[in-house]
Amino acid sequence: MRYAEVSVNSPAAQRRTFSYAIPSGLDVREGQAVLVPFGERVLQGIVLELTPVPAVEDTREILDVIESEPILTLSHLSLVRWISDYYLSPLFDAVALELPPGFERKAITFVNVTQPNPDVASLTDDQRLAIDIVSGQGRVELKKLEKALGKKKASAVVSQLVRQGLLTRSYELGPVRVKPKTEPYVSLTDDSVDASKLSVKQAALVDFLRERAAPVSWAEAQNKTGCSKAIADALIKRGLVTFEEVEVRREPISYDNITPSHPLSLTADQQSALESIKSGLQPAAGKNTSSDVFLLHGVTGSGKTEIYLQALAEAVKLGKKGIVLVPEIALTPQTIERFAARFPSRVAVLHSRLSLGEQYDEWHRIRKGEFDVVIGSRSAIFAPQPDLGLIIIDEEHEWTYKQDNSPHYHARHVAIKLAELTGATVVLGSATPDVETFYKAQNGDYKLLELPQRVVPSVGAALPQVEVVDMREELKAGNRSVFSRSLSQAINEAVAAQEQVILFLNRRGGATFIQCRRCGFVLRCRRCEVPLAHHIVGDVLTCHQCGYRAPVPQACPSCSSRQLKFLGIGTQKLEQEARYTFPRARQMRWDSDVTAGKSSHEAILRRFRNKEAEILIGTQMVAKGHDIPSVTLVGVVNADTSLNLPDFRAGERTFQLLCQVAGRAGRGPSGGRVVIQTFSPENYAIRAAAQHDYASFYEKEIAYRRQLHNPPFTRLARLVYVHTNDAICQSEAERVKKMLIEESDARGIGGIGIIGPAPAFIHRLRGRFRWQLILRGSELSAFLSPITFAQGWTVDIDPMALVQ
Ligand code: ADP
Ligand code: ZN
Ligand code: ZN
Repeated sequence: MRYAEVSVNSPAAQRRTFSYAIPSGLDVREGQAVLVPFGERVLQGIVLELTPVPAVEDTREILDVIESEPILTLSHLSLVRWISDYYLSPLFDAVALELPPGFERKAITFVNVTQPNPDVASLTDDQRLAIDIVSGQGRVELKKLEKALGKKKASAVVSQLVRQGLLTRSYELGPVRVKPKTEPYVSLTDDSVDASKLSVKQAALVDFLRERAAPVSWAEAQNKTGCSKAIADALIKRGLVTFEEVEVRREPISYDNITPSHPLSLTADQQSALESIKSGLQPAAGKNTSSDVFLLHGVTGSGKTEIYLQALAEAVKLGKKGIVLVPEIALTPQTIERFAARFPSRVAVLHSRLSLGEQYDEWHRIRKGEFDVVIGSRSAIFAPQPDLGLIIIDEEHEWTYKQDNSPHYHARHVAIKLAELTGATVVLGSATPDVETFYKAQNGDYKLLELPQRVVPSVGAALPQVEVVDMREELKAGNRSVFSRSLSQAINEAVAAQEQVILFLNRRGGATFIQCRRCGFVLRCRRCEVPLAHHIVGDVLTCHQCGYRAPVPQACPSCSSRQLKFLGIGTQKLEQEARYTFPRARQMRWDSDVTAGKSSHEAILRRFRNKEAEILIGTQMVAKGHDIPSVTLVGVVNADTSLNLPDFRAGERTFQLLCQVAGRAGRGPSGGRVVIQTFSPENYAIRAAAQHDYASFYEKEIAYRRQLHNPPFTRLARLVYVHTNDAICQSEAERVKKMLIEESDARGIGGIGIIGPAPAFIHRLRGRFRWQLILRGSELSAFLSPITFAQGWTVDIDPMALVQ
């Protein structure tokens, strides 16, 4: 007998596998999807390991395999284990990351009769009824018996009859939620038909089909001939054409407007970076198990993407394939196009905004090895790309690479782990590397490749000039507008010169809070306690945490004064102000209030590119890697929004954002300038960003990190407990803190620091209170691993943000 350790799709399974016996005749391999009995139910599971002995004495048997081929490779099985161990996530949560879209299905139990006319004389009434129902059809769903007998009784009766050998159970998976997509195709049944006997439109369709010979998609036929369905129906009636459903591939990339591109000849810096990566890709002797990680540090517009493209081409030449991660794929259609243009029809796209059907198709084609490159957001790291040789993570510092629900994985960390397992090479690219990444590069853990020069608009072109405006001085000078005198003048000049302007403000809505002038009361969300923002569109108050909406009250709910003051400024208000201040310029706004739906990011970007507006106002979206040559001015309306958060990464975050926004200016021949408005012009992150000086930012930042004992000098874990009662929430957090201290003493583990408990930054969310503990230490996963946390706790290893 052989046994399998199976990760079962049940929340009860947590981080464990379960032992099952493999019945003879069933071919079960590691990585295979199977059906297993679990308590009273039948569940899906994945075989993680085959063993000669089970972990427990009493095992049940695997019922069936779901697909004949294993779904996970051995490397991916190791990756699953690592994710569950490191991020302390339920094992099947980690498995689920690797499964094809639509894989998770419920098993349906069937009951079958074993003999045609069983002797029912000795049976009870219920048993006889059950036999009757099943005998009628030979096999029925257990549900049917449950309807007749009640759930409990049905289960007992079936068990009795199974023991007596009169019935058997069998299992099948419920229907697949995604099916291959089909489209109607039309073809000619009789091509000798005399078109002169038909109406003009009928003849047009017949002629078109005759020319094409093979079946044609009805959509295309309709498009090319202008025929309606009625015309086709008339031809069907006469037996001249037929329709059939043909399976089609859902194609997330449209190649219609993409012209193939060729490798550019590289600058000296690019060339030497590429050579290093190439040598990393070589399957040198003894290199099977070690993998290289490169950090490609280059300012925006220094030609990093061109290096990715040529490195991928090299990998393909060596018979390997690649995965490319980008932070938010829906925001960067241009990036997909550049990859698609270099590898026509060899690029797959994976991201959560695709329909389930599109994801399903792409996943299966990737597994068959049909693509050289898979490009996608965070979860694309789990693409079943065979022969993986190169993983590229663009904008590696971006926070979207960290998943904020279980498993709380970071795609960069997973990528490096996966590369270790497969021998692939990793390239991390950024203009503003994560301080932890850069530290590793300085230490020699990663290989540092620098591209200090811009290649656009020309090699060695200067980065845009940045002016930092002290808003305190503006106030002193009597300017109460959101636009400093400097920014106003710059906007006027740019508009007059028919150039384009981007204004960045990291807040949505109109006023960001509403306060009573008389008593100081601030309107807050009842469920989250955060101030309600006013949205000019719709004249409504909105909670940015939970989406709660309410009308604007006539008077202060606390003192009934009618003097409510609208304070703070979001993008909607900024738009209003800009319209008023710059009446000659047309405006467009780009934030998540305007983008709903798959293509509206693209639509906005296209309209701006087509110069339908002079000023684009937006949140972080405007900062991403767009390349709009006619943008000569970028204004940062308030650089302080991210600076003042109580998080040790606030400085880093601000620096990254400012550099990224500034990088949007001056990508065309007319050069560019940036105006940053702030109340803290002396802040190191703002000063370094204004100088485009990563090195000086890093020196300061790493010194602070060392001094305050923050990552990379330690690791963090964030433990949050939620409860509807604040006092219970606090005392549970205190209890757990005590328990953790006792645990570290008992196990003799030193060097673990615990901060808190303290109310989380968002103390109340959707009606529930939140308290947190922050742990510091080097081996936090190992320390926390054996501890069971009560329901209501979440554990986030290596949290990105402490203020959530
Ligand atoms: P990054 O990814 O570092 O922001 P890109 O790769 O997007 O930079 O390069 C910016 C622009 O410069 C792109 O339009 C790209 O086609 C062009 N480019 C890159 N490398 C070269 C080169 N060696 N010669 C000419 N143009 C280049
Ligand atoms: Zn009041
Ligand atoms: Zn709320």
